[in-house]
Amino acid sequence: MIYLKSESEIELMKIAGAATASVFAAVEPQIKPGISTAELNEIVEATIRAAGATPSFLGYGDPPFSGSACISINEEIVHGLPSTKRFLADGDIVSIDVGAYINGFHGDACRTYCCGNVCPEHRALVKCAEEAFWLGIREARAGQRIGDISATVQEHVESKGYGVVRELTGHGIGRNLHESPDLLNYGRRGRGVRLEEGMCLALEPMITLGTHQIRLLSDGWTIITADRKASAHYENSFAILADGPYVLTCPGYERPLADGFTPPPSLAD
Ligand code: MG
Repeated sequence: MIYLKSESEIELMKIAGAATASVFAAVEPQIKPGISTAELNEIVEATIRAAGATPSFLGYGDPPFSGSACISINEEIVHGLPSTKRFLADGDIVSIDVGAYINGFHGDACRTYCCGNVCPEHRALVKCAEEAFWLGIREARAGQRIGDISATVQEHVESKGYGVVRELTGHGIGRNLHESPDLLNYGRRGRGVRLEEGMCLALEPMITLGTHQIRLLSDGWTIITADRKASAHYENSFAILADGPYVLTCPGYERPLADGFTPPPSLAD
């Protein structure tokens, strides 16, 4: 069932969104060759707790996720486990996916960063995931179908020759980290759930340089591309208000339908 949020619940979702987004300002300057993913995870957890929130991902699932962030490098698509033995290298692309829980509600967002001198091919991939989000979110209006968002994402990604992961999707979000409905990154216009005021969702294009086929590593969490080519991921949580989408996890860019709106500068620029 889809839980529609009241105005007051959406105000609480904004607080969870702000706590989630605060992580990126803290972590971005630390994306440097030589830092371990465990150190990045510590920064994420400290930032979430400093905002008065708790990390949504810590202890989630089975086996329980051991980090506060999913940190996924290059061919890793999602759910990379932070490790003291894993270090960023010059030229890596690294996605930091985080969730924060406060006042009974979750926020969920991801950015893919470029570490040092990243090749143009991988920079373009990172940029495309961001673009797909900001194009897709424009379809997130009451009365539209969820397939309008999905198709917009897929068309943009595939127009660049990239793959769209099928098995992993965006989702409803609220009192639970993952709620109905699924928000696919591929689909057909005019199909699926009709969007309504009060819906809160996470849109998260996960895209690949080569095949969109995936593999699960033996740690039970990390998902990689089957061909081991690079992958990029970009995500924000948003609410559907009467006058359009409201992005909860990207401060300063809440209103993508506003006149003259320009999306945030790309992390790949
Ligand atoms: Mg998510």
